[in-house]
Amino acid sequence: MEIEQIYSQFLDSKSNEYKEKHKGMEKLFSASSAGHCYKKHMFKITGASEKQIEARSQRIMRLGTLVHQDFEDAIKYYINNNTDKFATSSDGSGTGEPTQFYTRVDGKQDKVFFIEHRIHIPEYNIVGHLDFAVADKNSKDVYVYDYKTAASYKWSLKFGRKYKDKNPNFNYEMQLSTYLLGLQKHFEEIDFQAESIQMSIIWYNKDTSRMREEKIQLEYIDMAINYWEELNQWRDSIEKENPELDNHDIVNLTIPRFKEVGVPFQDWECNYCPYEHICK
Ligand code: SF4
Repeated sequence: MEIEQIYSQFLDSKSNEYKEKHKGMEKLFSASSAGHCYKKHMFKITGASEKQIEARSQRIMRLGTLVHQDFEDAIKYYINNNTDKFATSSDGSGTGEPTQFYTRVDGKQDKVFFIEHRIHIPEYNIVGHLDFAVADKNSKDVYVYDYKTAASYKWSLKFGRKYKDKNPNFNYEMQLSTYLLGLQKHFEEIDFQAESIQMSIIWYNKDTSRMREEKIQLEYIDMAINYWEELNQWRDSIEKENPELDNHDIVNLTIPRFKEVGVPFQDWECNYCPYEHICK
């Protein structure tokens, strides 16, 4: 039996499932791509054809998804084991699954848990799902978490003493900040005003199974706002020439590669870009 091929076919089907689930959102930016090259976003929005992802890369991504799923299940397990404290609120994922849970103290809402909750920021044309957040109505703190996996090399760039303070990129910080911006849209619905914000990435080392929490500085929130504003300015320029946003040639004409800030942000981005074959 060719198990490797069978697995590849399975992963292809998962990728199709993902596309199906996101139908109707093709003209929106994905929060999980915060910090990526501006042009890459615009190729995606205009429906440019993507290079086929290699089977090995697909497997690497799948491993991340599985760890992520386990963390999500673990938080739900915690809630299910404390049903006396938790009540379920709305479906925020669009899948029918509840994504908002809250605890009560003295008959009043205390903590609100958001799990895989859908965020939508219309003014920046962004959609996405945050991993996990807690709004504590009592202390007025909000905590936003994102789960990430890393192999040992990336882990050493992040946490190794040799590379101390050499952050390999800022995409994850921008992503987390974007989730916070999206989450803030729900604060009014749950009658919550945050007085302090904490953002963390929960890292999982795929080689050693070590875990670490990395606190993220709040200055990334402003950087994320600037980033999405600038991307939307590019979107507006392209939309003027191509109102349907369906012609990637206009993207090439409007944003020439290597001539503009953020196209790409870092040279290595092009090596992993699914649009490298059409980018000029
Ligand atoms: S090939 Fe490079 S410049 Fe072109 S879209 Fe991809 S990352 Fe951006």
